[in-house]
Amino acid sequence: MTRLVGVIGHPLGHSISPAFQQAALDHLGLDIRYQAWDTPPGQVANLMLRLRGPEHLGASVTVPYKEVALGLVDDLDGLARRIGAINTLVNREGKLIGYNTDAGGFLRALKEEGGFQPRGRRAVVLGAGGAARAVAFALAGEGAASIAIINRTRERALALAEELRPVEAQALAPQDPGVARALGGCHLVVNCTSVGMRHSSTEGESPLKAELIPPQALVYDLVYNPPLTPLLRAAQGRGARTLGGLAMLVYQGAEAFQLWTGREAPLEVMMRAAREALERVA
Ligand code: NAP
Repeated sequence: MTRLVGVIGHPLGHSISPAFQQAALDHLGLDIRYQAWDTPPGQVANLMLRLRGPEHLGASVTVPYKEVALGLVDDLDGLARRIGAINTLVNREGKLIGYNTDAGGFLRALKEEGGFQPRGRRAVVLGAGGAARAVAFALAGEGAASIAIINRTRERALALAEELRPVEAQALAPQDPGVARALGGCHLVVNCTSVGMRHSSTEGESPLKAELIPPQALVYDLVYNPPLTPLLRAAQGRGARTLGGLAMLVYQGAEAFQLWTGREAPLEVMMRAAREALERVA
């Protein structure tokens, strides 16, 4: 029986996950198809019911369902429970287990591609959605000295900062006077908002004014399309080091691949297929 995996999201037209996951499955000769399951709101529960069938290995979960899916699984991995968002489902004998591989993918890319060790460092996280939660908990778990959360909706930043304690955590809205101070003294800025994403209403925009970008920091944008986002371009103009979101996308996908198949993911194959797919949707 051909087994199935897929990505659940809406809309999914520009997702490159099917391309790099299928390339990895084919490389290992596995009889598994990775499909795009574009799922309108209201149909997620039904789809997840079907995913408990024996032909399904699980799924990736993307925008806007990372928090909704949490309430529809049979059990949660401990990290996913703490983060409060899942991006991976695994079908274990008819039970759906929720995982969060964004946190691990983020950290691996930060360390291996960015050469950055979070312990004792001050970080600023832009955003307070599912990705920001994974990033903030990952940084807290690695011993970051402080984490400032800057989000358009202050209440979400406050809720996240509260949950991060005892780590020194601060919640800010973009217009707050404390923003310049938090950015000025930090070692790492991570954009976890969708601002700047190609094919979105904020395409071409940066979540930070150029003069606020700290030249001494590593500026990491989770947005991977385009590869050089307006934020990264501005950061380079300020002399800061930069890291794009593609490596994280592949690393989180590689962790999920291992959960579904029990096999180590062929990273180079995945990375090459991801780059090629990104060129096609650009
Ligand atoms: P989400 O839960 O919907 O959160 C979106 C965040 O962006 C919220 O903090 C939201 O602020 C903020 N935001 C949206 N539009 C904004 C605007 N016009 N101005 C200011 N802030 C705005 O989404 P998510 O799952 O966290 O994903 C966020 C981004 O990370 C997406 O672009 C996604 O593609 C990317 N991502 C990349 C990877 C990777 O592997 N590279 C993995 C995960 C996510 P409010 O709270 O005020 O609405």
